[in-house]
Amino acid sequence: MKDVSISAASLAAQAMGWVDPVTKAVVPPIHMSSTYQRDTDNNYSSGRIYARADNPTFDQVEATLAALEGGSKALVFSSGMSAACACFLAWSPGDHIIVPKVMYWSLRNWLATFATHWGLKIDFVDADRTDAIAAAVRPGATKLIWLETPANPTWSISDIAAVAEIAHKAGALLAIDSTVATPVLTRPIELGADIVMHSATKYLNGHSDIIAGALIGARDDAHWAKLRAIRAQLGTILGQTEAWLLMRGIRTLFPRVQWACRSAQSLAERFAGHPMVAAVLYPGLASFPGHTIAARQMRGGFGGMLSIRVKGGERAAIATAARVDLWKRATSLGGVESLIEHRASVEGPGTPCPPDLLRLSVGVEDSSDLFNDLDQALRRAHNA
Ligand SMILES: *Cc1c(COP(=O)(O)O)cnc(C)c1O
Repeated sequence: MKDVSISAASLAAQAMGWVDPVTKAVVPPIHMSSTYQRDTDNNYSSGRIYARADNPTFDQVEATLAALEGGSKALVFSSGMSAACACFLAWSPGDHIIVPKVMYWSLRNWLATFATHWGLKIDFVDADRTDAIAAAVRPGATKLIWLETPANPTWSISDIAAVAEIAHKAGALLAIDSTVATPVLTRPIELGADIVMHSATKYLNGHSDIIAGALIGARDDAHWAKLRAIRAQLGTILGQTEAWLLMRGIRTLFPRVQWACRSAQSLAERFAGHPMVAAVLYPGLASFPGHTIAARQMRGGFGGMLSIRVKGGERAAIATAARVDLWKRATSLGGVESLIEHRASVEGPGTPCPPDLLRLSVGVEDSSDLFNDLDQALRRAHNA
């Protein structure tokens, strides 16, 4: 599109305004080829050699993600985990990295086991406290600070701009798992982050029908080339059909996220006074500890994820999840259908997740239907 002032919402809806130059199709084709012909002068004038490095089906979705995040380049991966792991594999044994105590459970597990055994020196800190991050920095040794905000499953908030300053003063990079915020609500690169990671399985795709990941880089530099090489070497590329589905999903990202934010805010406020609910964890509540920072770095809403802590403990929480009808009992988040999960059961021993916590991913159903369904489940579980 020629008009550079066009909004991110319009760019997403039209997938950058792409129209096929030959057929005038407004939806792109899927490129199936795994290999590309070499020219007679022994060069590859197309710039493409083999599809373990990239695929033309990635071009539109990667350009759209870079534009939505205000970054320079994007890479799509076979999963959110493979995108995240690439950010850590880019460093060497002995390098120091700071990560949150409260974060996506599978990545935390991988960091505590594989990445640590491989030789990375990893500190797990209270990432909702900027002073705790500053205290953990080892100037000269710290290479990367990793944040997730809002963070699974308590939705605690980290101050991206403040931590970017700390990271850069120490010569380290800042990477943000922005899966829950999405580029609709937060653009971490504008706040000083160097890399943004997404589980594109979640809001970006939005329909619970692919596994995908993405990285967006502030700069197309030597470090970015390393991340690109890791994807090509490990072959953790996205399948071409999944890349096409991801682009299709991103076109409705803004209305889906905006709807989910309004419903989540309403549900958080209604459950905050509920007789069977001990606490509601949601950055949009003024009483939430990270609310002031969230209000500064999230625009237009506080996300579609919230958790409730059920009175009566773990048994009451599991009994409540068993009695919903409209909400679906399933892991994952960010789809059009609302999901409920007893998170401690999934994370297992050693989890920092409270046992009475139910994680709610708010979809695009009517929010009163969602309230009524969970309300009756809480009451029936209480009386059981
Ligand atoms: C789901 C998720 C991941 C992992 O992504 P996959 O696509 O499942 O590999 C990482 N971070 C967050 C916040 C997630 O919700």
